[in-house]
Amino acid sequence: MLCEAVMTSQSAADVQAAPPSFDDALPPAGQMEQLSPLVRRRICPNGGPFTASGTCSYVVGRGRVAIIDPGPADETHVDALLVDLDGEHIEAIVVTHTHRDHSPGARLLQARTGAPIVGCGPHRAARQLAENELPLLDASADREHRPDRELLDGESVGGEGWTLSAVATPGHTMNHLAFALPEENVLFSGDHVMAWSTSIVAPPDGSMRAYMASLDRLRERGETLYWPGHGGPVRDPRRFVRGLAAHRRQREAAIRTRLTAGDGDIATIVRAIYQGLAPHLMGAAALSVFAHLEDLVERGIAVTDGPPLLDGEYRPA
Ligand SMILES: [Zn+2]
Repeated sequence: MLCEAVMTSQSAADVQAAPPSFDDALPPAGQMEQLSPLVRRRICPNGGPFTASGTCSYVVGRGRVAIIDPGPADETHVDALLVDLDGEHIEAIVVTHTHRDHSPGARLLQARTGAPIVGCGPHRAARQLAENELPLLDASADREHRPDRELLDGESVGGEGWTLSAVATPGHTMNHLAFALPEENVLFSGDHVMAWSTSIVAPPDGSMRAYMASLDRLRERGETLYWPGHGGPVRDPRRFVRGLAAHRRQREAAIRTRLTAGDGDIATIVRAIYQGLAPHLMGAAALSVFAHLEDLVERGIAVTDGPPLLDGEYRPA
């Protein structure tokens, strides 16, 4: 979850560069769709400003299948998946990352089927939280996720006619995995790359430096289509990923300009560079700026007193 739905045309305009073009057409929730010979999708009806039309649960294979990201703790959604898969066997419940709109459904599905949970490891924060950061930053993590088998980068799980190979893509969360399906040359990109919006990269689950490195990693891969955790497919993914990286660099440049101009706190910077942003998205914008500032401090480009904090004061180094 927590896609950064702050990519309005206004916010893009004020950094004076074209963002990647996002796909406004969201696929509908609440029905199983056959997307390709090996891939089906049912979207959980948990749509909202940070989840598009809902969390995409993917079924991979036919007969003996994997389910990627069963979604939130929603019994109705899990029931519907099981009705869809009547007569089929679930070989593995595969999880991309430990946000509450992706991983808790795995435990419900396991309770009903006994299938093993594989994929990302338990939640881990990139750093300790300060007390005043807890209410804002601790809301989305699923701390109960314990996979039966944690997949490391390059490790895979497979069934009849399909293989899911883990691609470590930290950034949105530190434990985030994408999954390549070589039989169709596609990638399940989780919340790392989505066609409808940028990802939220928010400390402490996330890290801007790790996110940018993970984008670079994907650009070296050859998949021709991504199936993301929310919204429709990412077509021409290498070009799209290049656009995402460029957009973040432009946002970073805008933040550095504000620091040089004397804006030292996150709220002031957000007001300056996200003009016209809807109030309910301001929190997401603040977290995104915070992630950039943390990265700038790590790189010695900005300084703050003590560790980077949400309410800290920042200035150019
Ligand atoms: Zn997420």
